[in-house]
Amino acid sequence: MYDYIIIGSGIVGSLIARELSKYDVSIMVFDKENDFASHQTTANSAIIHSGHDPKEGTLKARLCVEGNRLYDQLEKELEIPLLRTGAFVVAHGPKEEKMLEELYDRAHNNGVPDVHFLDPEDIFKQEPRLIKTITKVLSLPSTKVTYPWEVAFASLENAVKNGASIRRNSHVVAITKDRDHFLVELKDGTSWQTKRIINASGVMSDIVASLLDKDVQFQIIPRRGEYMVLDRRVKDTFHHVIYPLPTSRGKGVLIVPQVHGNILLGPTSEVIDDREDASTTKEGILYIKEQLHYLSDQIPFEWTIRGFAGVRATSTYDDFYIQESKYYPGFYHVAGIDSPGLTSAPAIARYLVEEVIKINQPKKINYDPIRQKKLFFNQLSEDEKSIRVKDCPSHGRIVCKCEKITEQDIIESIHGPLGNDTVKGIKKRARAGSGLCQGGYCESMVLQIIAKETNKPLSTINYDGEHTPILVKETKTHEHD
Ligand SMILES: Cc1cc2nc3c(=O)[nH]c(=O)nc-3n(C[C@H](O)[C@H](O)[C@H](O)COP(=O)(O)OP(=O)(O)OC[C@H]3O[C@@H](n4cnc5c(N)ncnc54)[C@H](O)[C@@H]3O)c2cc1C
Repeated sequence: MYDYIIIGSGIVGSLIARELSKYDVSIMVFDKENDFASHQTTANSAIIHSGHDPKEGTLKARLCVEGNRLYDQLEKELEIPLLRTGAFVVAHGPKEEKMLEELYDRAHNNGVPDVHFLDPEDIFKQEPRLIKTITKVLSLPSTKVTYPWEVAFASLENAVKNGASIRRNSHVVAITKDRDHFLVELKDGTSWQTKRIINASGVMSDIVASLLDKDVQFQIIPRRGEYMVLDRRVKDTFHHVIYPLPTSRGKGVLIVPQVHGNILLGPTSEVIDDREDASTTKEGILYIKEQLHYLSDQIPFEWTIRGFAGVRATSTYDDFYIQESKYYPGFYHVAGIDSPGLTSAPAIARYLVEEVIKINQPKKINYDPIRQKKLFFNQLSEDEKSIRVKDCPSHGRIVCKCEKITEQDIIESIHGPLGNDTVKGIKKRARAGSGLCQGGYCESMVLQIIAKETNKPLSTINYDGEHTPILVKETKTHEHD
């Protein structure tokens, strides 16, 4: 019997697992997908927001500002990437400047540090490509950018180091209450006993809640956001996260520099029926381009290398819903975690454990907060590169030419602490296929390396989920007499 089962390995479930692993308790994390952190945590803007936007007095406001601060600690403990960009919210003319002043008051009331205004001279000195109709900017220096799924992976890795268990391909399909414990049933037919359950299942959180709870107080309204990705060759075109003024539909279409040098443009905001429909559309691209006229007339769209979409777990409850079930004590819902959920996640984990669960177990004396990041070949010094190539020739074989990823980087990602044997899993871990050609050159080699390292036939290697092979049948065969 576990003390805690966490349903969902997104950024929220992963950081909750890490927070709980500080205590003397047993923990299991289930995720239904073939890889961890595959939904909202993989497809978002990657911004660690300052906290200027959520309504005063809400959990979103408090946990966003706290979460932003906690990322500085995560950077040291988990060696996650953080790019300290700062952000600009722009206004055009007197009416918008007035709205910007209201936003300043909100940011100030929420406790956002160092907020200040910039005049045109400073604005265009710092961001020469912004459109010249901008008259005033609210500068938010505490805004940063991260690599979201690496934060989730690092947190899970660290939780496992401190005793937690994790399991993918583990779809929770039923929950029952049996006297002093819960029974959690998976699609594969296994069932697991636990004293407490944490529902961190993102866009599925109302469905998971209703597996047991018959009076669920929130409902998820899935809202898709589409993006365009610019190649990292445009790295120096924009330096800050650029926001328009927020509206009731969210923070609008943004320009976001990324930790690896790419620039993200988006997201859109569209209510959809299918909760997991992360497809991109022509209308989405046109909308992004149209909205960006408001921010800049010098965006290098010709460097677009990819589009993607994520689905927000927006809920009918007008805030994060972080509560114990009224009818089933020990069943905790961490739901409706849409933006700024990535930012808030470290603070959500702490808030849940300390203020909602009010944990009374002792902290472990041997808890180790440190996760050491594996350095890829392209991050080493020239001397170290030579030593490694001499030791092991696969360090010297470049597979992904765009991102300079070696065969050994891929092998180590397959066998790493949270190893994976899919093409997308390797892309997420080693960035093979993330560059200009988007895997056109290296994907077949990645497939072959996975097949060799896992001892499986090529035709069974999946792109992402189970049963998503890339090679389905031979296209050229020798005909024999
Ligand atoms: C377009 C977009 C842009 C965003 N931009 C930002 C931003 O810039 N900054 C920011 O702070 N926030 C942003 N967010 C919000 C942020 O991404 C989310 O709040 C955060 O990722 C939520 O994490 P999560 O762990 O709750 O959910 P998820 O990452 O969705 O994880 C939920 C997990 O639960 C699993 N699961 C579901 N059902 C089951 C089941 N029955 N059994 C087992 N497992 C199950 C899923 O497979 C999934 O892995 C954005 C979101 C989107 C979609």
